[in-house]
Amino acid sequence: MTNIKDNIKFGWNFDNTYVNFPKLFFSKIKLDPVRSPKLVILNDELAKSLGLNSENLKTPEGVSILSGNKYAENGAYIAQAYGGHQFGHFTILGDGRALLIGEQINPSKERYDIQLKGSGRTPYSRGGDGRAVLGPMLREYIISEAMYNLKIPTTRSLAVVETGEAVIRDGIKKGAILTRVASSHIRFGTFQYISSFGDIDQLKSLADYCINRHYPNISDDENKYINFLKEVIRVQASLVAKWQSVGFIHGVMNTDNMTISGETIDYGPCAFMDNYDPNTVFSSIDTRGRYAYKNQPIITEWNLCRFAEALLPILHENQEKAIEIAQDAISNFYDIYYTNWMSIMRSKLGIFNEEAQDKAIIEDLLSMMEKYNEDYTNTFIALTFSKNKNEGMFSSTEFINWYKLWQERLKRQVQSSELVHELMKNSNPSVIPRNHRVEEVLEAADKGDFDPMKKFLNILSKPYEHSQDQEEYSKLPKPSNCKYRTYCGT
Ligand code: AMP
Ligand code: MG
Repeated sequence: MTNIKDNIKFGWNFDNTYVNFPKLFFSKIKLDPVRSPKLVILNDELAKSLGLNSENLKTPEGVSILSGNKYAENGAYIAQAYGGHQFGHFTILGDGRALLIGEQINPSKERYDIQLKGSGRTPYSRGGDGRAVLGPMLREYIISEAMYNLKIPTTRSLAVVETGEAVIRDGIKKGAILTRVASSHIRFGTFQYISSFGDIDQLKSLADYCINRHYPNISDDENKYINFLKEVIRVQASLVAKWQSVGFIHGVMNTDNMTISGETIDYGPCAFMDNYDPNTVFSSIDTRGRYAYKNQPIITEWNLCRFAEALLPILHENQEKAIEIAQDAISNFYDIYYTNWMSIMRSKLGIFNEEAQDKAIIEDLLSMMEKYNEDYTNTFIALTFSKNKNEGMFSSTEFINWYKLWQERLKRQVQSSELVHELMKNSNPSVIPRNHRVEEVLEAADKGDFDPMKKFLNILSKPYEHSQDQEEYSKLPKPSNCKYRTYCGT
């Protein structure tokens, strides 16, 4: 097998375009091999869709590539430069512990970045060690794959490799490297970074690149840069509506963690909420609740303002006019978000047509869930399967009245009750990666037992099935006095 060329053996089909930018955009990286790489998990289905040979990737030679011990033939091996507003303050950042292996063209001719995360120091590492820990990398694998199966745009996870090296964090941890797949890793912060140098041609070249890669339908538009801003507003408004609809809390919505493609990126401190509470914050460093569940739409809008600011020089040559154009585009954000959110929430309640009072029906339900501490996901499942409990919110008069109004509302559409049930079944997941389950499987994985994680991943791959297995994983954690906490950059 060793004589067969890499591209045939592993299926690499690289066409690296980011390397054509000037050196300001990235740095070439020399590999920093790890002691004894061991494959923990490989995503066969994703590998196949990328045109990769997963069996050969599982061989020692394949694992060498996935651990950054061996170069893939024709790889790019660069770290990308970017900046970003972190908790409101602008900083120059960049891939401090990641490198781009290459841009893979899959059998459908789509382009995907294949990136190693945790692969060692880069010129952008600042004080960091460039490494990553097994638990958080598996956490990213689990949650990003769960998001994908919940039909939410996201980067994906191809593999996790243990490095056989220790990483110092809060104690000594097992090192690991994640292979991340994204339609690109270009962030709002990439534009902020390039724009900060004040060279309009470079800014245009980055915008043109993104238009060609992500929004080719607008490439011939006369106002293509304005339309580019509008497209990014559209995809981000749609994305955050989807997050809200499943109770996903990103946790670190800095502008370097917002993609131009509209995919969810950076699964550091994210988590799903159990009981509905708009003030929920999990991240240990988000002490002021900037990235709380209820703030996610407004923060997306704030981030889009920073993105639009970076684009100003190419929106119009007259700065005042450029600001007007940007404000005009951003002013549509909330309506686009709200339309997306309403549409998803209507589906969750089996509503096909639109009535003005739908907003009240949805909001009244959410208020009751908050008041009675009801679980967000399981409330919708109870409504879908008419399994209303005889306790808590479900036994209250306000819920009984709401239920009647909702049933009457469902009659004011032509669709049969069977169709209503189908719509609700397909709109309400029975399983999400609940925090206690995630922790349980990560604890086992840290001790070398990966079976619980693999079983969990299998369940999470079918969130809209409602079998016995799904039911088991929809159970709530035992009441605890400890608030669930998540951590960044681990
Ligand atoms: P994040 O909070 O994960 O979005 O990371 C913010 C910045 O810190 C990015 O530039 C990362 O590349 C960098 N970073 C995070 N962890 C490390 C690490 N262990 N070593 C070097 N850079 C890191
Ligand atoms: Mg990040």
